[in-house]
Amino acid sequence: MVIFKSRQPPIDLPTELTDWDWLFDSSYSPLSRYPPNELAGFQNAITKERVNWAQVKEYSTYISTALVKKYGLKEGQTISLFSANTIWYPVAMFSGLRVGAKISGASPAYNVEEMTFALKTADAKFLMTTPGSMDVAVASAKAAGLPLDRVFLLEGNLPGYTTVQDLIRMGKAFGEAGQAPAFKLPPGKKNKDVCGFLSFSSGTTGLPKAVMISHQNVIAQCLQIQQITPTTQKKILAALPLFHITGLVHQMHLPILLNAEVVMLPAFTMEKMLDAIVEYQLGELLMVPPILIRLVRDPIVDKYDLSHVTRFSSGAAPLSEEIIHLLQKKFPGTGFKQGYGMTESCSCITAHPPEKFDFKYAHSGGAIVASTEVKIIKEDGTEADVNESGEVLARGPQVVMGYLNNPEATANTFDADGWLHTGDQGAIDEEGMIHITDRIKELIKVKGIGVAPAELEDLLLGHDKVEDVAVMGVKDDYSGELPKAFVVLQPGIEKSTAVGRELIAFVKEKKVRYKWVKEIEFVDEIPKSPSGKILRRVLRDQEKSGKKGF
Ligand code: AMP
Repeated sequence: MVIFKSRQPPIDLPTELTDWDWLFDSSYSPLSRYPPNELAGFQNAITKERVNWAQVKEYSTYISTALVKKYGLKEGQTISLFSANTIWYPVAMFSGLRVGAKISGASPAYNVEEMTFALKTADAKFLMTTPGSMDVAVASAKAAGLPLDRVFLLEGNLPGYTTVQDLIRMGKAFGEAGQAPAFKLPPGKKNKDVCGFLSFSSGTTGLPKAVMISHQNVIAQCLQIQQITPTTQKKILAALPLFHITGLVHQMHLPILLNAEVVMLPAFTMEKMLDAIVEYQLGELLMVPPILIRLVRDPIVDKYDLSHVTRFSSGAAPLSEEIIHLLQKKFPGTGFKQGYGMTESCSCITAHPPEKFDFKYAHSGGAIVASTEVKIIKEDGTEADVNESGEVLARGPQVVMGYLNNPEATANTFDADGWLHTGDQGAIDEEGMIHITDRIKELIKVKGIGVAPAELEDLLLGHDKVEDVAVMGVKDDYSGELPKAFVVLQPGIEKSTAVGRELIAFVKEKKVRYKWVKEIEFVDEIPKSPSGKILRRVLRDQEKSGKKGF
């Protein structure tokens, strides 16, 4: 059996601590390792509003008390966070975790239909949002049967809505002795048995699903990454969305363990990000390929002195050779690292260790993180050796619990021996570094965010001019990939530019921007297997052979 093992020393994983206790009430906590005046925190890069870890602990205690005692929040219930990046997002997240709730992040760009689906799929009982998203929040709460007095504001004010600041006041009024007790693991359970987060991913096939992430998954991943993070890293840029697994781990949990200041960008623009990088003298920049592309191409970057930047960190999607080359040329003397993984592995399966923080290794997705194993299965079903390519399987304490209420998808993705089937194709080289070469699964990655082809196929099938459809990702210079639809029209409907435009507009009307279809190609039939499954490989080959659509 060829199993590739991590070359890092194993992590010493606590199994009896909850996520909240671990970060705020244990020997791991920065609160027990640093004097109060040295505690880092979450900081809004624009308004400078800031909460340090002691305040996060205090406020999350009060908020959780208000939620439990005034609003009846119970262990195991789900709180949905529907918001752009704000320092109150992690405070709210830790409030829920403190009393044993599950936290489910949703993209603030979702429309009512998408948000309703998210609330229902995660079975959310509480919703926290911002003023700009309140209309969508209210409409989707109504559609999902969530009472409006369970909808709170993370920041700002709107008449009639309770804010996080109100919850802090309510909780504080119960006095020190009246605070709701912190959630403890039920007898006989370890932290791997308790779900703390529900993040969305479509996995290898089908519609988006709620991924059950345990308290242990997050703790393990933080310890795995801490091991390969230089202790000099004391500031972290949080430009990526908090609802994505990268935000959950690398922008909200890991910084607390590292006692590193989180510089949070509430809304992403290149200018604001560059201002923050210079103002806070951020040395390592955690990014996704579309931002790195802009860093080498956007002329605005030349107005900034980025000579203090020491390293670029990329993940969530493949980075092209060309961009790696341009990055190295534009920022000589900097280092590079990458992480490869998925929501189902609570972020990284592989990541660069410090001795490989070099552009020489930039084409690789990194080395297997501590306490983790990788197996590569070739097309003929046998296990690959060094430098042989096949589907990547991973096993380790960061591999998640499965999909909520979806045993079939869970069984298809996580096998009985604990291996996660990633749906990615790759190989491990002699130095133990992974190379991701292709994607076998259906996922489309737009600016690092996953889009499920099945979701767009379902939508387009509902259009009265469409008889059949298949959606796949096509390369795009700016976004990495964008969805393209292959459409079979209903009998009697002429293939025309006007119909193509109509279908593109239909998707625009119904879906959040990053799911918009770039291109429609009319075809006579969708290649399918005898069982009716779309043969995506055939479509991809057709696409590569250069057929052009509308
Ligand atoms: P998500 O669950 O949104 O994080 O998406 C996970 C998927 O993104 C993986 O299964 C890969 O297909 C892709 N991905 C993540 N990181 C990388 C990387 N460093 N290189 C190539 N693809 C990646």
